[in-house]
Amino acid sequence: MIVLVVNCGSSSIKYQLYEMPEKKVLAKGLAEKVGEGDSILTHRRGEEKFEIRQSIPNHKVGIELIIGCLTSPEMGVLTTVKEISAVGHRVVHGGENYSAAIRIDQEVLSCIEECADLAPLHNPPNLIGINECRNALPGVPMVAVFDTAFHQTLPKEAFLYALPYETYEKYRIRKYGFHGTSHAYITSRAAAILGKPAAEVNLITCHLGNGCSMAAVRGGKSVDTTMGFTPLAGLIMGTRCGDIDPAIIPFLVSKPEYSKVSDIDKMMNKQSGLLGVSGVSNDMRNLEAAASKDPKSRAKLAIDMFCYRVKSYIGAYLAVLGRVDAICFTGGIGENGPRVRAASVSNLENYGIALDPEKNKDARGREVDLSMDGSKIKILVIPTDEEGWIAEETYNLCK
Ligand code: ADP
Repeated sequence: MIVLVVNCGSSSIKYQLYEMPEKKVLAKGLAEKVGEGDSILTHRRGEEKFEIRQSIPNHKVGIELIIGCLTSPEMGVLTTVKEISAVGHRVVHGGENYSAAIRIDQEVLSCIEECADLAPLHNPPNLIGINECRNALPGVPMVAVFDTAFHQTLPKEAFLYALPYETYEKYRIRKYGFHGTSHAYITSRAAAILGKPAAEVNLITCHLGNGCSMAAVRGGKSVDTTMGFTPLAGLIMGTRCGDIDPAIIPFLVSKPEYSKVSDIDKMMNKQSGLLGVSGVSNDMRNLEAAASKDPKSRAKLAIDMFCYRVKSYIGAYLAVLGRVDAICFTGGIGENGPRVRAASVSNLENYGIALDPEKNKDARGREVDLSMDGSKIKILVIPTDEEGWIAEETYNLCK
């Protein structure tokens, strides 16, 4: 069964074509600068890479171009578009309506539209992607896999903010959490590595990429997570500030250069985090290079702050969970950054967490157990596979 996975952003379309249940990637690619001029589609078939530079004025043209590539004799892997049996869509926000992937019908579409208020930058392009795929592939089942779904198991004491209760009832203000597909995939892989059913594992999952979030997982279900009403909360990220005192915002509004809330919003999302503190870059590799040249630099400070925040949440989630089987690292930094991993779990031996520096040193981009023999809590690196997880969920609903 052939499954197409689509992740439609405001100016980009990411796709991967899978043969299921083997989860074999047949082709993948990315259309960039959709609707912006000088658009480019990068299409890959195995080791082969094709760059198509042509105008992609909108998502409709983008989807048609992608399907054209998948079926073209020169670049494609399909003889006819009819070979595609289902399409899985990454959808950012499902509100409180969905705690699992779902076959898309009119009701699901309306719900995604309704949640656009909560994710104005993401749900509208997700919807466009779904509609364009429906037009291009009539009759093919479509599945929505929500970023928020895995965290719908949070208990009320964890997801509510201590604001007047009406803000929850009237405006749906609560912690939703994001990166759900990644945390769900990591949970399923960690259970397999630990040799236990998912329903018996307790984990702290750390997705550290450009966006960063952690989850406390009890019995395979998310019971707390660091991102909140929006992805701005929690950990320090590439350009997002993570947790701050909310009173900073009204304070800043009274200052001349921050008089507009929209400017503060932009600052917190695009100019803060590793970039804002270091003044150098949002990219951890650049910060590590700068920090090793100058240990007194703000790049070093930004890394220290980043790791301190991860460690603080490890402590919090140890308390939340009581018993923890493993701490799992994923995302670009979690998978490839020995320095951040080491600092984030340093001096936690009294809590049963002991990292083996030798195993940590060279562990990059593959599944590996980094813990010392005898460490009560395992420390695992598990490369995430969000597209693969969406393909699997789609296959399971449509097979
Ligand atoms: P996204 O959230 O956009 O998918 P990624 O998961 O690819 O991002 O993570 C990007 C981050 O991973 C960047 O900060 C990058 O510097 C970091 N990263 C990639 N390779 C390494 C490495 N070898 N050491 C440290 N950080 C790394």
